[in-house]
Amino acid sequence: MARFEEAENRIFKVKICLKCNARNPAAAKTCRKCGYKGLRYKAKEPRG
Ligand SMILES: [Zn+2]
Repeated sequence: MARFEEAENRIFKVKICLKCNARNPAAAKTCRKCGYKGLRYKAKEPRG
């Protein structure tokens, strides 16, 4: 029943590389794809 919540938590607990936009684990300090240090938490985009 709470599957959507679970999915959302998973989605928003990631960091996005500012350079290549790859998703990284929230614990990541550098991008796993390009090694860039500029990671930000994925922001919840207001919709509607
Ligand atoms: Zn990257």
